[in-house]
Amino acid sequence: MQPTLSNYLLRNGSYIGGNWHNSDNFFAVINPADGQQLHQVANAGVEQATDAIAAASDAFTRWSTQPAAKRSEILYAWYQLLISHTKDLALLLTAEQGKPLAEAETEIQYGASYLQWFAEQAKRMDGDTIPAPSADKRIIVQRQAVGVVAAITPWNFPNAMMMRKAAAALAAGCTFVVKPAQLTPLSALAMAVLAEEAGIPKGVFNVVVGTDAKALGTVLTSDPRVAKFSFTGSTAVGKVLAAQCAQDVKRVTMELGGNAPFIVFDDADLDAAVQGLLVAKFRNAGQTCVCANRVLVHQAVYSRFTEKLITAVQQLQVGSGLVAGSDLGPLISKEALDKVETLVQEAVEQGAKVELGGQRHSAGAQFYQPTILSQVTADMQISQQEIFGPVIALQTFTDEAQAIALANDTKYGLAAYFYSRDVGRVFRVSQALQFGMVGINDGAISNAAAPFGGIKQSGYGREGSKYGLDDYTDIKYLCLGGLA
Ligand code: ADP
Repeated sequence: MQPTLSNYLLRNGSYIGGNWHNSDNFFAVINPADGQQLHQVANAGVEQATDAIAAASDAFTRWSTQPAAKRSEILYAWYQLLISHTKDLALLLTAEQGKPLAEAETEIQYGASYLQWFAEQAKRMDGDTIPAPSADKRIIVQRQAVGVVAAITPWNFPNAMMMRKAAAALAAGCTFVVKPAQLTPLSALAMAVLAEEAGIPKGVFNVVVGTDAKALGTVLTSDPRVAKFSFTGSTAVGKVLAAQCAQDVKRVTMELGGNAPFIVFDDADLDAAVQGLLVAKFRNAGQTCVCANRVLVHQAVYSRFTEKLITAVQQLQVGSGLVAGSDLGPLISKEALDKVETLVQEAVEQGAKVELGGQRHSAGAQFYQPTILSQVTADMQISQQEIFGPVIALQTFTDEAQAIALANDTKYGLAAYFYSRDVGRVFRVSQALQFGMVGINDGAISNAAAPFGGIKQSGYGREGSKYGLDDYTDIKYLCLGGLA
């Protein structure tokens, strides 16, 4: 089933300095549900990325010196346009990314919520006055936009991962150049259409779409006009890009991979834990960096929990995201499917037991069955890597200390979840978990009011919340003397 995409939102190439790039060199955008070509997009390279940085650099002074109220007003207009185009944006998103339409709509609202949030925060970029050490001095602290921001974003949330960077950057007064993932460029280009309609001045928001990620990434991390670089993607690529940024000591935000534990204690509400796990595991077919990756269940409740879980997972419908009622769409690519298949096969060879699923799904070439594996152990690759697919890997534990040790036994530190009704345990375990975000009796932790981000090899910096402007502003201190 081919979707009818909005002509207004569908674009053929990058948006640079307010102009749409065109060329004879195209790349195809594919619908992962059926492998059909959706559209072709002009392939931007180093020259276009450099032009975009130049445009952002030219626009910076004008944009950063606008009154905060004006920037706020424009961001709010952009927010309203996202909301009023939710259906068309969601269709585009599902078509190129695969997630069920209802989830795509939620993503658009989620992406929009950052615009709404940072439209407000733009007006609250407050500074400080500090008592000076002598009577003739005054100390004033101001926050100023860092300058041109370059960003690289992934395919799993093509709208929201970009919007939470762009909204904060523009609110602070920065100008912005983003390279979205080549698998999902259409959602990003649609945002440029609406940016223009909202009145965002030329050069303030630029989208560069192309297939040579390495070359584009090199430009975005090494051009001296870029003051700050923000990345969401894998830890492996993040390390390379952070190293490139170090040459110029650019400011950097890294939202990298995770390996979230999901702990079910013996005092948990098991029905709530099952529902929370469905959300934390199967959203986007398991392709999120905060997905529950290792499910640790207390021995005493293991059988009851597993039984309830199997019953719940059996209800999930797999199919094209465009078909009403689908809970799980395809995986993003053939490689992604191969990786999930290999992780499951290896785990089974090493002693894991398939409780449900464990195979490719007949809905199409890139679909995988919702799967539950039991008797998983910490040394298996499926426990050590991000699965990025619809597979629940169950392990058991016998006491709280063991659960915490297992949970922290990873180089990642993005999200963790646990279920318990003991208030003492809630605070003890929250403190002991080495993760940037902890969901307690809750599987859905992301929202614009909260600081999203990780520790350890999951990165640094926070997106959203009242802290979200910090990464896009520099602190400048003014020392006024001779006042006595
Ligand atoms: P994933 O595909 O697991 O989300 P990646 O880190 O591979 O994570 O991709 C995230 C983003 O990084 C995408 O926009 C991709 O094009 C980009 N990317 C991948 N490799 C590189 C690289 N070597 N240099 C710059 N960007 C890259």
